[in-house]
This record gives sequence, structure tokens and C-alpha cells, in this order.
Amino acid sequence: MSTLKKASDATAIVSQLRESFDSGLTKKRQWRINQLTALRQLITDNESVLEAALATDLGKSATEAQLTEIGIILGDIDYALKNLSSWLKPQKVSIPLAMMPGKAFVVSEPLGVVLIIAPWNYPLQLLLAPLIGAIAAGNAAVLKPSEMASATSAALAKLIPVYLDTRAVAIVEGAAKETGWLLEQRYDHIFYTGNGRVGQIVLEAAAKHLTPVTLELGGKSPIYVDDTVDLEAAAQRIAWAKYLNAGQTCVAPDYVLATSAVQHELEAHLVAAIASLYGPVPKDSPDYGRIINQGHFERLTGLLQDGRVVADGAPDAKQKFIPPTVLAEVSRDAPVMQDEIFGPILPMITVQDLDDAIDFINSKPKPLALYVFSENTLVRRAFTERTSSGSLAFNVAVVQLSVPELPFGGVGASGMGAYRGKRSFDTFSHEKAVFAKSFKPETLALIFPPYTESKKKM
Ligand code: NAD
Repeated sequence: MSTLKKASDATAIVSQLRESFDSGLTKKRQWRINQLTALRQLITDNESVLEAALATDLGKSATEAQLTEIGIILGDIDYALKNLSSWLKPQKVSIPLAMMPGKAFVVSEPLGVVLIIAPWNYPLQLLLAPLIGAIAAGNAAVLKPSEMASATSAALAKLIPVYLDTRAVAIVEGAAKETGWLLEQRYDHIFYTGNGRVGQIVLEAAAKHLTPVTLELGGKSPIYVDDTVDLEAAAQRIAWAKYLNAGQTCVAPDYVLATSAVQHELEAHLVAAIASLYGPVPKDSPDYGRIINQGHFERLTGLLQDGRVVADGAPDAKQKFIPPTVLAEVSRDAPVMQDEIFGPILPMITVQDLDDAIDFINSKPKPLALYVFSENTLVRRAFTERTSSGSLAFNVAVVQLSVPELPFGGVGASGMGAYRGKRSFDTFSHEKAVFAKSFKPETLALIFPPYTESKKKM
């Protein structure tokens, strides 16, 4: 682990990684395979350490840690290892008749030294999933975990240098000051996951060096529910997606849009669904998480002022516990409807109909995810064609992330760029255009001057 005491420490780390990259170390296919395998080993050797760290940071149960962090990382590593050879193969492309004979290829080459900055809500997955793409594509990487998930950050800072090649992968712990020093350096790509305010800081820093960025941001992800679905089944899926990680999931449903008749029925089913997931006393459930820190706890409890609170149990500051909460009868301009909630509070907003819901969504910044619970194909088509969001899922929420070949990323205010599956490899690669043309026959003679009358007619 590297600790930064001053900005020049960041310069030294990045220069060392750049030297390794320039030496060709990380480009070797075997190096990439070895590092991905070592990362796999890091996880499997230390599952209990990582589970404990996630429990300390977020009260995450071991099963949830496996499902949403460890399992995803292992799956992504295996996917990358399985597909690396085919990703590395030059892709032949066709060429126009006038350019024949010749050969054209797209060759993926690594970008260089990349910086990966992660947030606290899935502190393991959101740091390591981009790293898998960076390594697979042959880059050197600086990792900056979130200081807010301090136990996970400390565990990774200890383990990464033991398992991975320190010549090409560095991990730096720290907060805004240290990240600022890191951001002063020149990288070949910056991959940032977190809130939009810091996203702007990252983008400004990147602009100084013309560094490309991926920004994985957040926002308010709506759910629309109509009366064509089995509301009991819908409530179960919505409750799971919303209260997973105590609502601290970037693609968690933020709020529900429904007519008052649907809301009325849905509310009862949500209450039953919460009880079935977390029992009658969610505070006692080993499967229900905690809020990351006191600041966020206070921010969230402050949002319970508007609407009618439907919850089993009361918030407990000492435990940073907020029960799975439904907020009924919320007005459209209530504070809870201003910013991303990022906690276990689900407001319900009344809409008159489908058009009203779509207009409401389109009046807000483009969401990271949009969920539509409807069996009506016309309704589904209306959302597909008339709204824009990072992802769109029907009759389900959050699990669209489990499909590796679906891009994971935002649009507009919810982010730029995407990753997962081959897109992770592509994100950290440059697609180099390669064209080779033989001298004989010299077909280019047709386009060389002098531009005779016969050439002009071509
Ligand atoms: P955070 O506070 O951990 O910040 C993210 C990173 O930025 C951290 O590593 C932190 O050290 C760094 N940082 C903080 N302030 C900084 C500053 N002033 N200058 C430079 N670096 C700074 O996490 P967060 O932003 O609270 O994360 C939650 C947000 O992230 C939510 O909006 C959520 O929706 C979003 N998110 C998006 C995704 C996605 O994949 N799109 C995933 C998870 C979270």
C-alpha cells in the first residue's frame, strides 16, 4: 500500500507505473492472465476477511457480500479469463472495392496508466470490477478505494500488494486531499464511480491532460407500476431491490410512480414483502444492512418529514439503522424528491396515467436506471421510445447488472461510458485502425494526380 504525504508522492507512484507500462510488462498476455488469476486467489484466500470488512463498513451480511460483491468479482474474472484470447485477436473488417487488395484490422491496445476511483457503497466490487477490465486490456493501474468504507479500504490496501504485481498495480488510501494529488497526475484513462459533484472535479482534472474518462454516477432511478402486473410479485422484487444494502445501491429504485389506486394496493404488498424479507423486526434481521455513517443517517432521517411513513421500527442513530420505509402520499416537490435518496426510503408519487409518468421522468435529469412494471407491450414500448436512461428493465430491478454483456453505465447526468463484460476490456483499450495494402497492383494510381478527364469521371 502506498500512503501519500504530499503531491510528489503521487507523482512518484505514477512514474513508476508508467515505467513498468513502457517496459511492455503489462502488455504480455501471460502477465494479464497471471494477474487476473492472482486477483482471483486474493479473493478466494481472503473471503472471510473481506466479508468481515464489508460487515464492519455496511453491516452487510456474508450472503449479501457474496451475492453483490465477491461473487460478481469472481464471475467477472472468470469471464475475462475465458474470453481474453478472443478479445485480443485483431478483428478483421471489410474494405471497400476501391481500396482492394489490402487487409484492414482493428487491434485493441492498452491505454497506459489508468486511475480507478471507487465509492463506499459496494467498496469491493466497484474498485475491483474496473481493475479486471484494466488488467485484461494490459494497463497499469492506480486504485483509490473510498475512505468512507474504511475497513474494506484497509483490507484491500494490505492484500493488493501481496497478491498483485506492485510494479504495475498500486493502491492508495485516502480522501479528497489524496485523491486531489492523484488527480494532478497524467493518466491515460480515469475511471470514476461516485457522485456527480466529484465527477465534475474528475472531469476538470482530466481535461488538463486530455485524459479520457468514464464517469459512473448516480441519480434518481424511477419505477413505474401499473395495474397489469401481479402487484404482490412486483412488490417482492421492488422491496428486494430497494432495501438491498439498506438502499445504498446506485441502481436502486429511488421512487415509485403509480396511480393512486395502484399505490394503495402496492403499499400493502410492499409491507408484506418487507416482512417476508426481513421479518417483523428488520432491526433484528442479520440480512439487513446499516447506513454508512452518521452524516448520511442524519441526511436520510431528515427526509422523513414529508408524506406518511410506513415502516416497522424507528431509526436508531446509535446503530445507524433506518428501517425499510415506504413514504406514501409524497408531493412531487418534497425534499425527498430533489436528490438521489441513497437509503432505504421509498417515496410513492401519484401520476394520472402513463403520459404523466413519462413527462415527469423527462422533466428530470436522465436516470441511471428506469424500471417499468407492466405486462402491457404498448406501455413498455412507450418507455423504450420516449425516455432515456442508463438501463431500462421490465418487471425487475437491479439484476440487469448480472448480464455481463449488457453495458453498465449512465447517460447525461447519470454518467458517461460503460463497462462490464467485453465493454470493460474496450473501456481500457484503444481500438487501433490497422490497414495494410500491397504495392501490386497499384490501384491507388487511380487517385493520384494528374487528375485527367477519365479520372474526374470516376
Ligand atoms: P464517496 O464519497 O466514496 O466518493 C467517491 C470517491 O471520490 C471516493 O474515492 C472519494 O475519496 C473521492 N472523493 C470524494 N470527495 C472528493 C473530492 N473533493 N475530490 C476528489 N475526490 C473525492 O462516494 P459517493 O460519491 O458518496 O458515492 C455515492 C454516489 O455514487 C451515489 O450518487 C451513487 O449513485 C453513485 N454510484 C454510482 C455507481 C455507478 O456504477 N454508476 C455505483 C455506485 C455508486
